[in-house]
Amino acid sequence: MSKRILIIMAMAAEARPVIDQLGLRELPANPQLTSHFPRFQGEFAGKEIVISLNGKSTEYGVDRIGTEFAALNTQSAIVELAPELIINAGTCGAFSADADIADIITSDQPVVYHDHRVPLEGFDRFAMGAYPTAYCPEYFQGIEHKLGVVTTGNSLDMPDIDRQWIRQNQGMAKEMECAAVAATAHLYGIDFLPIKSVTDHIDIELDNVEQFLNNLSKASQKLSETLIRVLTNIN
Ligand code: SAH
Repeated sequence: MSKRILIIMAMAAEARPVIDQLGLRELPANPQLTSHFPRFQGEFAGKEIVISLNGKSTEYGVDRIGTEFAALNTQSAIVELAPELIINAGTCGAFSADADIADIITSDQPVVYHDHRVPLEGFDRFAMGAYPTAYCPEYFQGIEHKLGVVTTGNSLDMPDIDRQWIRQNQGMAKEMECAAVAATAHLYGIDFLPIKSVTDHIDIELDNVEQFLNNLSKASQKLSETLIRVLTNIN
């Protein structure tokens, strides 16, 4: 039987190149879910692949980025598809000393939150989280990539307190979904792997939003190429 791999992605623009390059077909909306998550399915390299998007907000017309919809998307896809591996693919910010634009970051260390601060015994560690990844060097054989901590929060900007947390936790990829997807995968005992491509440098003057928009297409193309090579390598 072929391995079932679920890929969770927040933004349609991040996912378009890989959906096209893998020739995935959109699944019909699930009638039980009033606000469904767009899903694309196909076979590739002997694996069954489903890409599930967070979808667009009906109220605001934009992609439902961030942790809440990432967790809901992941859980509903797990229940419907019973995947054996979950990949969260997307874009991220990074410090300029760590990575260039469009560089690929994955992780062999637990995924954390940088904006869940609860200074109470026990709750502090629960809030920050530490969700395991299933990194295997063979998956990235021949693929240029960096290994670092992926750190999640619900803002695109970086106030000083978030910066401190990210530095303290050796964060390398700053983004908005990964810990939520990893936590959901962990809840169901399913292997989890992050793959992120850098759209912006979080330590330089140019506004993150402007950088993000300038680099989104380049980073998404690199993400697609990398995903296809990783999917090929996975056994
Ligand atoms: N849709 C907005 C930008 C969203 S950016 C627009 O078009 O203007 C946020 C998305 O990209 C999130 O899904 C997040 O995971 C990722 N991301 C990229 N760079 C980020 C950064 N510096 N901080 C947080 N999230 C980042």
